[in-house]
Amino acid sequence: MVRSQSSDTQDRRFHLTAPSGIKALISSYGASLVELHAPDRAGRFADIVLGFDTQSEYALHSNLYFGSTIGRTANRIRGATFELDSVTYQLAANDGKNHLHGGAVSSFDKVDWEAEERTGDAGTAVMFRYVSPHLEEGYPGQLDARVTYTLTDRDELRIDYEARSDRATPVSLTHHSYWNLTGDGSRTILDHELQVEADSYTAVDSELIPIGTVKPVDSTALDFRKPSRIGSRIAELEDTGARGYDHNFVLTASSDGVVTLAARLRDPESGRILEIWTDRPCIQVYSGNFMRPVVGKLGMHYEHRGGVCLEPQAYPDAMHHPNFPSILLHPGEVYRATTVYRVLTD
Ligand code: BGC
Repeated sequence: MVRSQSSDTQDRRFHLTAPSGIKALISSYGASLVELHAPDRAGRFADIVLGFDTQSEYALHSNLYFGSTIGRTANRIRGATFELDSVTYQLAANDGKNHLHGGAVSSFDKVDWEAEERTGDAGTAVMFRYVSPHLEEGYPGQLDARVTYTLTDRDELRIDYEARSDRATPVSLTHHSYWNLTGDGSRTILDHELQVEADSYTAVDSELIPIGTVKPVDSTALDFRKPSRIGSRIAELEDTGARGYDHNFVLTASSDGVVTLAARLRDPESGRILEIWTDRPCIQVYSGNFMRPVVGKLGMHYEHRGGVCLEPQAYPDAMHHPNFPSILLHPGEVYRATTVYRVLTD
């Protein structure tokens, strides 16, 4: 494993490599995935995630969350507030009136994580740690969070999350890479085929906050039970608050603690395939609808919908919905979650 620094600042970057030649570059800033190089069906490698060359660009475009670890809570919290044990907690309203992806200043994507290289039987790995103080971004409890990236010799990028708190606090961590299996973010992901192992999704209001009901995907543009082009029905969602795909799918087979296939993304042209396996109950599919053209790594021009995020997560806004599984972590408990991004070709 080689260690380096990005050209402008102090984030540390770690190269992981698999025997097949697949390579990942991971940064301590936001514990984020900066590059993932995967072969097409002819064996030609390309970088399949969007990102920036320098930490300052990540900070400048922080509302994109390119490749980041998201925490303490993924997705939105209505009104940027919640009540716990009769205390009202006020969070940053960084998405209109609501709270998005853990906050505005020191959410997990915007902090520099401690890093420790680890190499073992499972592959090459790097473990990041961040201790978030009590009331940081308004959340109760000192939260000790760890995120370990392992590149296995089965061509999987495995992400293991762990967290402990000294007070009850909500926790839902996820990963926010924008995937573009062509390796060219100036092309949209509309021709990618997607399959999602979900019969239902959480219905939302115009601000993308769950209203508490879980609805079937049947006969809707959200039916990805069979592989379907992302672009084939996206126009039906253009006039909604999401302006495309930005939905939380409830996984059919996933149950806590069992890592199960959640989704499969395929670029028919290159033959690259990405499988997402997780033990989380849900996955957010976000087709980059709020992306504006931006210059990314190596001067590449990324376009609107230049990437798709596939974010395994808990039920969003669970603090306001007793019918959703709780996301509270109590003292003495350990939060554990695993997601595996597996690359292959057809
Ligand atoms: C959310 C989008 C949000 C985006 C920010 C996604 O995870 O679902 O609604 O705009 O993150 O980059």
